[in-house]
Amino acid sequence: RAKDGGRDRVALYDSAMRHEAQARRDAEHRVRRALRTDGLRVVWQPIVSLSDHEIVAAEALVRLEDPVEGLLEPKEFVDTAEDTGLIVDVDTWVLGEVLRQLREWRRAGVGLQVSFNVSGKTLEHPSFAHRLAHSVESTGASGSSLLAEVTERTLIDLSSSTRASLGELRSIGARVGLDDFGTGYSSLSYLDRFPLSFLKIDMSFVRPLGTSDRAEAVVRALISLAHAHGMVVTAEGVETELQAAMLRDMGCDRAQGYLFGRPVVAAALPQGVLGPRFRP
Ligand code: C2E
Ligand code: MG
Ligand code: MG
Ligand code: MG
Repeated sequence: RAKDGGRDRVALYDSAMRHEAQARRDAEHRVRRALRTDGLRVVWQPIVSLSDHEIVAAEALVRLEDPVEGLLEPKEFVDTAEDTGLIVDVDTWVLGEVLRQLREWRRAGVGLQVSFNVSGKTLEHPSFAHRLAHSVESTGASGSSLLAEVTERTLIDLSSSTRASLGELRSIGARVGLDDFGTGYSSLSYLDRFPLSFLKIDMSFVRPLGTSDRAEAVVRALISLAHAHGMVVTAEGVETELQAAMLRDMGCDRAQGYLFGRPVVAAALPQGVLGPRFRP
């Protein structure tokens, strides 16, 4: 009996693996098709200053418009894009869109910073930062309005080509910062590996604020650690007034989350972005 049970489990495992492999092939196919057929989109999520709730930046988040599945979120395709190396083309496309939008906003007199996510694989690619620097130069875009978000993984694996890319970003005035801070790794030694301008506290630390003293102590420590390194701190996933108030009182500089706005197409960002002020 025990043997049969074991065999069943192996069969189940086998079929789960096959299912997953198929899902990955489907995702890869969708990303390839989207890159070929102009099927990627960018949505923007506001980042506000916690002192006055004014929008100071917006993060570009990629979406995939699939002819069959509709609008897909990154969790449906970004991991596969990373595994297959297609993320380099995705990030490159997103960045083109970011620079285009930055120019458009600048023409309209909107002084927002733009944040974008860049995979370690992309930074590893020798021509990415080079092309970025070139297009910033040739289009007269303002490099100092760019915020590049990298992950802890990128800093831990930091290779010489990645370091060169990050250096090139800094040389055009872009700021490099750490996304999802606090997830996954316990060592902070990598914070000294590259000069970072900002740090985004992961929403898993923001969520329990107001219900857990422990969470509050951790966030407070993260903020002071970041400030000691001269970094601007942004809290991610802020959904309630209480979280926003607590973060402001703890000295957190910026916030992003559904309380202030979900990711939307550029034209749907609060009208106040174009005018003097926005309050949630
Ligand atoms: P991220 O960079 O940490 O982006 C924040 C994610 O949290 C976004 O999910 C956003 O929609 C979501 N979010 C923001 N505020 C709230 C909130 O108040 N509550 C909740 N529940 N969620 C909130 P999204 O757009 O699905 O993106 C997921 C991840 O995909 C991003 O996490 C980033 O790691 C990756 N990603 C997105 N766009 C790109 C890209 O162009 N290139 C690369 N390499 N990765 C990207
Ligand atoms: Mg991000
Ligand atoms: Mg994040
Ligand atoms: Mg993330």
